[in-house]
Amino acid sequence: MAAVIPAVSTISSRIIRILGCNPGIMTLQGTNTYIVGTGKRRILIDTGDSDVPQYINHLRSILTHEGIDLAHIFITHWHHDHIGGLGDILNDIKEKTKHCQIWKYPGGKNLDNINKSIVIESLKDGQEFAVEGATLRVVHTPGHTEDHVVFHLVEDNVVFSGDCILGEGTAVFEDLYDYMQSLREIANLQPKLIMPGHGNVIHNPAEKINFYINHRMEREQQIMDVLNQDKSQTFKENDLVQMIYTNLPEHLVKAAENNVNHHLVKLLKEKKVKKMNDKWQISEHTFVRSF
Ligand SMILES: [Zn+2]
Repeated sequence: MAAVIPAVSTISSRIIRILGCNPGIMTLQGTNTYIVGTGKRRILIDTGDSDVPQYINHLRSILTHEGIDLAHIFITHWHHDHIGGLGDILNDIKEKTKHCQIWKYPGGKNLDNINKSIVIESLKDGQEFAVEGATLRVVHTPGHTEDHVVFHLVEDNVVFSGDCILGEGTAVFEDLYDYMQSLREIANLQPKLIMPGHGNVIHNPAEKINFYINHRMEREQQIMDVLNQDKSQTFKENDLVQMIYTNLPEHLVKAAENNVNHHLVKLLKEKKVKKMNDKWQISEHTFVRSF
């Protein structure tokens, strides 16, 4: 059982975490949002969901209590539990967000739900923002979504990982190839701590990222093993599911097929497999190399 995340926590002299108060299957205890910096003007990372007055109240009272306002709001990616609260924050906490700039990496879907009058500036990979006590560097980390970014807090060597890495369990993704690259990119930063979009602070980032990578690679190896057994044979996704997953309950078959498909698409990008008429086969390239 995961440790309970309080509604508001001071994590360090530079980081205050405010829970989005939107618990759920996908959001765990809710979305973590973070206020970063030490001065009068700070940065907010992510905004939780829309229509959660409890969250807005917590955020407002922290801003008031600390006597601070927001210079920037950063959105890690387009999912509603990260961008949804943006309109409410700007509307309900006007006095603290008057001169605030909003930033997000381009791309994503469902952005029409966001009030058209809100100007969202485009983040760039490698861009740096500084407020008193905090320098945040933007790292584009597609995979969970194409527009996903994480933020590297240079002073503390901490990464705010959005949904790329979670405090508990493993993350879902749109594109496994990109996702694995992004995990490696975060690993290369060698952060001391990770502040995830959901779940508790991660104190062992290297171990956690390795677990994420290995978890995916094991499944991939199983798929490659099946394809390698008979290199002339072609397989449907469902054939692979039947051979790899044992005792899989009927209601999880679709999810397993989806997962196998993600791996196959990644392997296709790496030219390790080929696809013909909805069937998959080891590529000649891999075939030759394995001798
Ligand atoms: Zn999320």
